[in-house]
Amino acid sequence: MKDKHDRQKMPEQKPSERIKNFKEVPFGYTEELALNEASRCLECKKPMCVKGCPVNVPIPDFIKLVKQGKFAEAARKIKEANSLPAICGRVCPQEDQCEKLCVIGKMSKPVAIGALERFVSDYEREKRNVAIPKVSEKTGKKVAVVGSGPAGLTVAGELAKKGHEVTIFEALHKPGGVLVYGIPEFRLPKKIVESEIDYVKQLGVKIVTNAVIGKSATVAELLEGEFNAVFIGSGAGAPKFMNIPGENCVGVFSANEYLTRSNLMKAYMFPEYDTPIPRGGIVAVVGGGNVAMDSARTALRLGAEKVIVLYRRSREEMPARIDEIHHAEEEGIEFHFLVNPIKFICDEHGKVKEIECIKMKLGEPDDSGRKRPVKIDNSEFSVKIDTVVIAIGNDPNPLIQKTTPGLEVNKWGNIISGKESGKTSIEGVYAGGDIVTGSATVIEAMGAGKIAAGAIHKFLMGEK
Ligand SMILES: Cc1cc2nc3c(=O)[nH]c(=O)nc-3n(C[C@H](O)[C@H](O)[C@H](O)COP(=O)(O)OP(=O)(O)OC[C@H]3O[C@@H](n4cnc5c(N)ncnc54)[C@H](O)[C@@H]3O)c2cc1C
Repeated sequence: MKDKHDRQKMPEQKPSERIKNFKEVPFGYTEELALNEASRCLECKKPMCVKGCPVNVPIPDFIKLVKQGKFAEAARKIKEANSLPAICGRVCPQEDQCEKLCVIGKMSKPVAIGALERFVSDYEREKRNVAIPKVSEKTGKKVAVVGSGPAGLTVAGELAKKGHEVTIFEALHKPGGVLVYGIPEFRLPKKIVESEIDYVKQLGVKIVTNAVIGKSATVAELLEGEFNAVFIGSGAGAPKFMNIPGENCVGVFSANEYLTRSNLMKAYMFPEYDTPIPRGGIVAVVGGGNVAMDSARTALRLGAEKVIVLYRRSREEMPARIDEIHHAEEEGIEFHFLVNPIKFICDEHGKVKEIECIKMKLGEPDDSGRKRPVKIDNSEFSVKIDTVVIAIGNDPNPLIQKTTPGLEVNKWGNIISGKESGKTSIEGVYAGGDIVTGSATVIEAMGAGKIAAGAIHKFLMGEK
């Protein structure tokens, strides 16, 4: 066994096996590994890790409980700040948040906070030992939440704990937002999401699916009706395209459509579900974020002969989580850096068969702080492909903005809301998550939900 003072590695499926199934890749810590890892935490008096967490999980407190073998208690400690710990333990970019600030990280590898969070929340669920906290006395106030992604689920759970009656309206037939339609089973099993949504429901939150706000009812109608306040957490679900020739060839997908077909429409469960989706052939994925990694790894599991990722910057600038890039590389995904498609070419049936690309070099940093990709003249080349998945980002879902007069938005269509409150330009209407920030992270959406819950509570109770 490795020295217990090294960061404990999580056991996982071998790459050669996992590319043939959609089962979760890492198996999670055993009790022994969790105890070893927890023993590395120094329990700092001024814990920097907490500062790196957008929802302020009491990290040293929960790790101390792990050290004592009190695993279910540790899970409950996390839930004082975060209702979705099994999800966050799996998908949060810890390397840029809590773990980045861990003091041990200065000398060796930081404490595996995410892996410990995952371990204790799985332990609590697997032992069927999930405790539902006492909710406050009913206030008689009602709140409508639009969207059941991490922002909506968080605001709803927090308000329910404070005694308000909360109804989430979700456009799709399944709650969870990106957690169910975007992130694949091999990274975030559906049963984990379902059980954390169930926890929110047990706090008293009602979820109405197939309810498209802006069509079934407008925000104004919700406020004029039974609801005292509305929170909008409708996310960034409108895919961006490249606007280059041939983008409408058959076989060119947005990552949203491709992943929704696989995840929500269960193409990944073939032959039980025979959802149409291309299987086999050469698949090119355009982009370098988590969405691109998820699309590439999904394509491999759906039977692609070869998957190539085309990214216009270099590896250092890739926004995907380090783990996802590493897993994709291990699985044999080919990365082509500093290239960008300029044209998709179809055959006589309108089916894509080739991509024309151009080589890029890195220039000065842009607004994002990353080096700007610049075209290299006369460097065009072609790649033969059967399917393309475009994963270059998302725009906000536009329906609510269009159907809510007086709701201020920025030039990209994101709702403008106060950082410290989530307040929008309309009294009683709050917003947070990707609809405000543009595509970001699960924990940032949850952080926004938590802030808005505090402000909505004050508004409902007439507090300043
Ligand atoms: C493929 C993929 C992989 C990702 N991987 C990671 C990762 O590893 N780690 C990470 O931290 N983040 C990741 N992200 C980003 C993260 O998932 C999002 O930042 C987060 O889900 C945003 O939460 P949200 O609640 O604002 O919106 P969403 O999760 O988008 O939820 C919005 C919900 O609102 C619903 N809705 C929209 N309009 C209406 C309407 N008019 N009426 C009713 N309902 C409506 C939508 O159907 C949706 O369910 C990933 C995103 C994608 C797409």
